[in-house]
Formats: sequence, structure tokens, C-alpha cells
Amino acid sequence: MIFADVNEDEFELDNEFSKGGVIYREVRLKNRGSRCLNCGTFTTKIKEYRLKKIKHNIYNNIQTYVLFHQRRFICPKCGHTQMEKDPFRSDDNKISDKTICDILDMLKRYNVPFRHVGEYFKLSTRAIIKIFDKYVNIKRNELTNIICIDEVYFSRHRKKKYVLVIINFYNRAILDILKDRDKSTITSYLRKLDFKEKDRVEYVGIDMNDNYRELIPIFFKNATIVADSFHVVKHISKALDDVRKRIMRRYEDDKKSDEYYMLKYRDELLFVEDTLSNEFKEVKRNHHFHYDLSEFNLLEMMLKIDDELRNAYELYHEYIRFNNTDYVDTVKTLDDLNEIINDYKLSGIKEFIEVSNTLNNWKTEIVNSFIKYKGKRVSNGPIEGRNSLIKKIIKIANGYSNFKRFRNRVMYSLNKYASHSFMK
Ligand SMILES: [Zn+2]
Repeated sequence: MIFADVNEDEFELDNEFSKGGVIYREVRLKNRGSRCLNCGTFTTKIKEYRLKKIKHNIYNNIQTYVLFHQRRFICPKCGHTQMEKDPFRSDDNKISDKTICDILDMLKRYNVPFRHVGEYFKLSTRAIIKIFDKYVNIKRNELTNIICIDEVYFSRHRKKKYVLVIINFYNRAILDILKDRDKSTITSYLRKLDFKEKDRVEYVGIDMNDNYRELIPIFFKNATIVADSFHVVKHISKALDDVRKRIMRRYEDDKKSDEYYMLKYRDELLFVEDTLSNEFKEVKRNHHFHYDLSEFNLLEMMLKIDDELRNAYELYHEYIRFNNTDYVDTVKTLDDLNEIINDYKLSGIKEFIEVSNTLNNWKTEIVNSFIKYKGKRVSNGPIEGRNSLIKKIIKIANGYSNFKRFRNRVMYSLNKYASHSFMK
């Protein structure tokens, strides 16, 4: 058993025993005396002992307690009494400092819910949360020159279902989380920040949200807005997927049909970028058709179901090729994007006509997304990884009702250098 910050040489009595499946360590300190808080006289005179039972470590899944015989000193001059200093605990906790540190360390792991920490330390979930709330209060981080903002679905039990996450493009550190994505919330947050800090921001990556686009120039006078390519692609994927579903519905009465099978269960083939790979052309037994074919064959068969699907497929991949192009010239980027927008507009497919409007509306910001900063395209790529971890944190906790606690948990466990305030 290890005591944090407690020197075991200071023990006058040190007796370990177990009883009822619990380990006790009975301890009395060497009498080092005490200075009277009332008159300043030094004393080693003992009035009495008090036995303090302190919840300590878990060792091999066994609870251990410290039984601390704590002295009460009495001043020979004025009669004032006072307790000996308790080296195991601070802050009036019933749990030892070492254990609180261990609990806070375990909470640093994003994938361990409060409940598990409680089970491990044989404490209630409530007790763990109380410790967390008391010692984990993470401050916001300053904005950097490239930031990404995005929203994360927080709770369906709340009127405002999304929270806003601000991330540093470089190291994926979460700079802050705002309670919702309302204009008023963002405005009052940004208004409070120092101008120097705001002027530093050069690029802001966003999803295609009009509110953000409207607010950014107001607060960040040096910032270029970048439409995150990941979100743009997601938008277009959805259009293709909607076309697929629309066509699939025609075959719903015949769920055993080849068309239904392909459209319902092999839809991922529509999104494969490299259809020339060996893997894609590898021939395998197909359990629906009962003969050998490759994914490539299957995709071809699927596209033959309907011309509209084939056209939608081509339009989607036209954008993917564009997005994967290494552009150096903004004029050329804009030309190619305009061509795509035009193709979409004239496609006659309602889902893609809609997308053409969105792309047209976000043209400038999409072109900006091809600008490279230190060899890397500015995108919300970093944020997506963070977002999935945030979603995991919400999921394993079965949701959060307390935004402040949620924000602290995320910033504490996902930011490497974020630390608690206990014994600091
Ligand atoms: Zn005294």
C-alpha cells in the first residue's frame, strides 16, 4: 500500500490486519507536537485520541481503510485544544488524498464512465461525480490561428440538442465547448474575448452553416472561412443515398428480388472510390446470386437497375475526384467547381439539383478549402475524430443532463494537458 505524500517513517504504530474481507491499516504518527493556534506555545501534551476511519486504496479488488489514531493536543498554557495534522486527507474528505488522485486519474480516461470508476473504488457513482465536480473545472484555451468549429449532438432531452465544439486544427486540442450553437450564444462568447486573440485567427473551418458564416467576419477580421470538405462530401453522399433509397422503394413489395438485395444490402459499393483495385475485382461466392462474382461486377449490375442511379453515381464521383485534386490555382478550382454545379443543376435529379444550390451558395468557402497551410489543407478532419470520441463519452454515460459536467469531462479527458485542481 502506498501513501501519497506520507512518509511511513513517521509512523509510530503501523499495524495491518484484515477483517470481513477488508484490509485495515492502523496507524499512529510519531508525536511531533504542535504549536497552539491560540497563544503560540509549543506542546506535545495529548488530551485524547480520536479514531478516524479513512477510505483508502483498492488493492487486488480489496477495500483498504486507514485507521488513524489522531491526537488532540492540549496547550499547557491556555488550555486550547487542537487536532494533530491529518497527513492522509485534505479538504474534509472521507477518502484519502491518494485515492482521490487515483480516482481523478482514472477519470482522465475518456472511455471509463463514472459508474465504472465507482465500481472499481467501491464508491457510489454519486460520490465519484461529486469528486469530479469539485476538482475538475477546465478553463477555456486561447484560440489559435486555425480553428475548426462544429456541432455535436448532445441530448434529445434538451431544447437545444447540439453543442458547439471549437478545436485547434494542429493538435486537435479542444479549445472550448459552447452550450448550444445559437447565434446569441456564439455572439456573447466571442464578444468577451480579447481583440488580440481574435485577430490572430487566420482560418476558420466550418460545416455549411449560415450562422457561422455570418458571424465569423464580424469577430475575426483576419479570418478566411473554409467550408469543411468532409461535410461537403457528406452532403453529396446523402444526395446519392437518397436517390438509391427512392429507387429501392419501388422494389419493396418484392424483397427477394435481385434489385432489392443490391440496393438494400450492397449500397456501400456506390461509395467506393477505387473500383480498379485487385480487392474490388476479386471474385467471390455471392450468397444471394449463388454464383461467383466480384464487387466490381455487383456494382455494375446495381447501376444497371436505373439510369438515374447511374447518373447520380457519376455525379457523386465527379465531386470526389474534384475534392481529391491537388489544386494550386484558385481560378482553376473555381472553374472546375462551377462545372460540377452546372452538371448538378442540369442533371434532372432533384436531390442533385438541391445540392447544386448549396454548392453555389458555398462556392467561395469551398474554393478556400483547397488552400494549403504548411502543406496541409485546412479541414475539419481533426474535429471529426474528436467528435466521435465526444459521442462515445456521451454514450457510455447514457447521456449527460448537466452541460457543465459534460464540458469538463470532455475537456479533461480528451485534452492531454488538462488537469484537475486537487492538491495543486
Ligand atoms: Zn495556548
